[in-house]
Amino acid sequence: MISTSLLPLETPTPAHICPFDQACSYLEQAARELKLDQGILATLSNPRKVVTVSIPVKRDDGEVQVLAGHRVQHCDILGPYKGGIRYHQAVTLREVSALAMLMTWKCALLGIPYGGAKGGIAINPKSYSVGELERITRRYTSELIKDIGPAVDIPAPDMGTSAREMAWIMDTYSVNVGHAVPGVVTGKPLSIGGSRGREMATGRGVMITVREALADLGKSLAGVRVAIQGFGNVGGAAALLLHQAGAKVIAVSTGTGGVFAQDGLDIPALQAYAAHNRRSIVGFPQAESITNSELLTLPCDVLIPAALENQITEENVHQVQATIVAEAANGPVTLQANQALAARGVTVLPDILTNAGGVVVSYLEWVQGLSYVFWDEERVNREMEQLMVRAYHQVIEQSQLRQIPLRLAAYTLGVGRVAQALSDRGLYP
Ligand code: GLU
Repeated sequence: MISTSLLPLETPTPAHICPFDQACSYLEQAARELKLDQGILATLSNPRKVVTVSIPVKRDDGEVQVLAGHRVQHCDILGPYKGGIRYHQAVTLREVSALAMLMTWKCALLGIPYGGAKGGIAINPKSYSVGELERITRRYTSELIKDIGPAVDIPAPDMGTSAREMAWIMDTYSVNVGHAVPGVVTGKPLSIGGSRGREMATGRGVMITVREALADLGKSLAGVRVAIQGFGNVGGAAALLLHQAGAKVIAVSTGTGGVFAQDGLDIPALQAYAAHNRRSIVGFPQAESITNSELLTLPCDVLIPAALENQITEENVHQVQATIVAEAANGPVTLQANQALAARGVTVLPDILTNAGGVVVSYLEWVQGLSYVFWDEERVNREMEQLMVRAYHQVIEQSQLRQIPLRLAAYTLGVGRVAQALSDRGLYP
């Protein structure tokens, strides 16, 4: 194992599924495949900068609570650091560090000129009022004011955050520097320079990747049976787009449970139901209730884990019946489960490809902002599709050329491009 000295060890994550160790294992596999120089591997194994700030926040009842906010900047060899900010109770510094590293390979794989970063605060946003969330977000931004910026590090939404938080970040940053800086974040509301198509982008990218993978198996989306874990920004959008393309979405779930219908769920009706039930889908008529773990083992063609990491593990991998697993979440399949799926010939569409639609449209938002010209949604979707399809085919080609699984092929491309840039730039001093 290479040394990752910048990260203090946190104990809560069980060692066998520590997300940062997993990310480093994949990096090491790619490094072996590429015969990378040890110095380059050691450089890429460590985040360049790790920032943890203290966020004192006054709750609505007057109590002051102090939260820890992280921002990990993994690599900026190809351009400004880029990556989302996650609000979730399970956030740890090691998780944020793993996700930052994944962003580096994701951007390089997609051919967009960014590095990789990630931010996070360990809170359940549902336990805070809108006012409290605003105070948390603004103080977090203010503490990071010297570390972010349109040429430095550009945050975006991730789990638990949305355009609303991006607007608060943009405003706080702008007020502090004295002028409007829309380019400091992506995933902003349209009113302040956001892009059309950004909200559905990650889900759209998932649909495109699944469609291409099916096409390679001689199939189309029509009639294909799909199960989706997660019905939020990613899972919900993927479900709708797959449903519109003729796929049968037979099951979806959220944190509180899921629903199943043998002949396919009416996704627009389910979305309307969720909107009226505080995002819960439990009790949706004309569907059976299932648990999150039952969803993962349903007989289906395509399984889309679109929630948290480490969902398909050594414990349940032998029960997975899908022929394609599309990683819409980051790291939903553990290292061991990944090997078991590969041994059984299951196609695993890796996260750094499958869920890249979001950051691709973030890039298109940035491009539109820099050129002061804003496109219609059709153009945004078209440009995003081109980049996703190109990356998909590059991964397939790399996998065939080197006779390696798709994840390793994707990593080899992403890591290889960053390593090339690193060696071209050279080491300073
Ligand atoms: N949070 C998303 C991701 O993990 C989007 C990041 C971005 O747009 O910068 O890819």
